[in-house]
Amino acid sequence: MDLKLDPDELASCVQCGLCLPHCPTFRVSGDESRSPRGRIALMRAVQNEGAPVTTEVLRSFETCVQCLGCETACPGGVPFGHLMETTRASLADVHALTPWWLRAAFVPLAHPRLLRAGSRALAVSQRLRIAPRRLALPRLPLRSPPLQPSGDDVYLFTGCVMDAWQRGVHRDAQQVIEAAGFGVRATGDRAPCCGALQGHAGLAGRARRLAEQTIRALPGDRPILVDSAGCGAAMKLYGHLLDTDEGRAFSGRVRDVNEWLAAHMGALAAVAGPLDLRVAIQDPCHLRHAQRVHESTRTLLAPFVAEIVELDDEGLCCGAGGAYSILEPSTAARIRARKLAAIERAGADVVASANPGCSIHLERAGVTVAHPVTLVARALRSGASSPGGAA
Ligand code: SF4
Ligand code: SF4
Repeated sequence: MDLKLDPDELASCVQCGLCLPHCPTFRVSGDESRSPRGRIALMRAVQNEGAPVTTEVLRSFETCVQCLGCETACPGGVPFGHLMETTRASLADVHALTPWWLRAAFVPLAHPRLLRAGSRALAVSQRLRIAPRRLALPRLPLRSPPLQPSGDDVYLFTGCVMDAWQRGVHRDAQQVIEAAGFGVRATGDRAPCCGALQGHAGLAGRARRLAEQTIRALPGDRPILVDSAGCGAAMKLYGHLLDTDEGRAFSGRVRDVNEWLAAHMGALAAVAGPLDLRVAIQDPCHLRHAQRVHESTRTLLAPFVAEIVELDDEGLCCGAGGAYSILEPSTAARIRARKLAAIERAGADVVASANPGCSIHLERAGVTVAHPVTLVARALRSGASSPGGAA
């Protein structure tokens, strides 16, 4: 089968295995077919030698979290993310990957009213204690007022599930950006979904359509700030996805909110004292390996918390991976167990995570998690209410 992989990209792996310790699925299985090297060998066998796409081959590809830990670890710069994305898109085209129910579940993401109505129904069912437990959903809000614009210096991208389930984080992000001295306009329903989950699942056509819709909805040149690491990583790759000048120009305007705030902290640091918290930082893979701006979280948080502690697992994935924790719950839980052990060793009061998928995945295991902007907003509020604090 032609997986439509670039022959040069496919040939670039020298099979050295240096990436193996950085692969969460290899770490929990010890199985070569669950490693980056093994997955690339299978891609080669299918594309170059006509090997059949057996169930075992499919499972090798399906079980990849697409965390890109192997890509940053590879000394030869093998573009594993692009290889896996293309492989999944080719297999999704022939319906060998991405089940029908997942394709159906993605539909409301591009239709905000439908998504909000479904989320409200789930929130009510949670209050009535009839929500399906196996969904393991976080506690959803019954209602959450929309964000009000405060100016046109920056867009704050609000997206789909995060806006329906965690609008409070957007509210905190807006408060912090305003405290830094900038007016904010939330993107809201005009740009309902960035297409990251669809692209992750191999649904490249849908991802492209959503990217084009997002670009059309946000013209001009003002920065587009994103408080979900997964969405930001996808939007920074629109140029690559669409291969257009318009896509590349748009991607050049996208910044993770931590990244942008870390460069605009002048007014911020003066208005709040630190919270008495020891904070462990969990780097979402989309911030650390995809966007490579994870240090900005530390820069942003440092003036606002008593202590920052590093996890000692070298940024290994937590197992959330978009829809991965739903599709591969057993492997996701085994990967998460390693993260939980690292969090336990750190002995922190709270874990800071800049990605909604990671925070929900960790909260399901009982971890106290907050977005970095939420911690900063708390510090601002406590500074504003304390004697001598800013008004
Ligand atoms: S992806 Fe890179 S690190 Fe991993 S086996 Fe291939 S060349 Fe080595
Ligand atoms: S993307 Fe992550 S899970 Fe997939 S092979 Fe690379 S390190 Fe392993």
